[in-house]
Amino acid sequence: TVRVEGERLYDISIGPGLLADPVRISHVLRGRHALIVSDSNVAPLYADRVEQTLHAARAGMQVARFVMPAGEQEKTLSRFCQCLDALATLGATRDATVIALGGGVIGDLAGFAAACWMRGIDVIQMPTTLLAMVDSSVGGKTGVDLAAGKNLVGAFHAPRAVIADTTVLRTLPPRELCAGLAEVVKYGAVFGADFLGWLESHASALAAGDDFALTEAIARSCLYKAEVVSRDPYEHGERALLNFGHTFGHAIEAEQGYAGAGSQALNHGEAVAVGMVLAARLSSALGRASAADAQRLQVLLQRLGLPTALPAGLDPQALLARMRLDKKAEAGGLRFILWDHAGLASVVRGVPDELVLDVLRAA
Ligand code: NAD
Ligand code: ZN
Repeated sequence: TVRVEGERLYDISIGPGLLADPVRISHVLRGRHALIVSDSNVAPLYADRVEQTLHAARAGMQVARFVMPAGEQEKTLSRFCQCLDALATLGATRDATVIALGGGVIGDLAGFAAACWMRGIDVIQMPTTLLAMVDSSVGGKTGVDLAAGKNLVGAFHAPRAVIADTTVLRTLPPRELCAGLAEVVKYGAVFGADFLGWLESHASALAAGDDFALTEAIARSCLYKAEVVSRDPYEHGERALLNFGHTFGHAIEAEQGYAGAGSQALNHGEAVAVGMVLAARLSSALGRASAADAQRLQVLLQRLGLPTALPAGLDPQALLARMRLDKKAEAGGLRFILWDHAGLASVVRGVPDELVLDVLRAA
């Protein structure tokens, strides 16, 4: 269990079998209404189990489901409205609980619905992807996408609890597992050279989905995220370091079009993997880190089954234009999270366009 302070205190529980553990959830459940929000891949696998657990945890619970099609392209205002309608149909009161059972898409959308329903009700995050376990379920950022860009509408709404059942990772497609590993590497890249070393020595086990290695990686990642979010819940300062690789990554995602079902486009974690390599190279171009460290990061990501090169056909100028539109951009030049050395990063402002273009052209 990892404890998160900050805007609200909550526990992150990590371990096998937790979705079927009524005791764990009984401590954080109140009221009579719960809405399980999930997607078309996850609900058939796990929603019955969670519903049984809710009934076992609290007698007389009224449980309903809102199941939406899977995929980033569904993280929309119209699905969000449907989710609110499902709360209305359930007759959810102020003490109702939203259960976000799925990956980051479900966590973000369900969390945002919980933030808005009657100005805020509890959400329990039950992340089912590695990415959601190590990143999106912790920290209270919720929201949906607009046609104009990702995550443009949202709210900070910390969960009542995070319950991560590691056994669900066995059904996760391998590509999604690798995507989550990119965010795990991010914590090492930004907060811990030690953790980078641990990842290097466990890379084969992690890529193979080894339970023990994954649980350890999740717990360490959650500790890093919990510490940062506890100190800086609203991203006024160091929480921004978690965007290492994301300025490039978001530009790649936006420029290629978001990965839909069966699409060849890079998903978020894959785009972040490429983005981290580019950020490391940019760091070394600015004399802030060695080229050897950038190379080492690239090798680790490759061993974890992740791409490290720009997808063919992406135009450097177009990517640069996207980065200027990113909500992390500011007036007066591009802002990047860059290495001081491997395992330590800081915010760097006013990075010259030419240097960024050089890195993109060489990628
Ligand atoms: P996702 O939610 O789309 O899940 C990926 C795919 O895996 C989906 O098809 C899903 O149905 C399937 N799936 C999920 N769990 C499964 C399981 N156990 N077995 C089989 N299939 C399963 O994507 P994601 O990578 O989890 O999340 C990406 C989203 O998270 C993005 O929208 C991103 O913006 C958001 N995000 C938010 C934060 C935050 O702080 N709020 C941080 C990082 C990312
Ligand atoms: Zn990310």
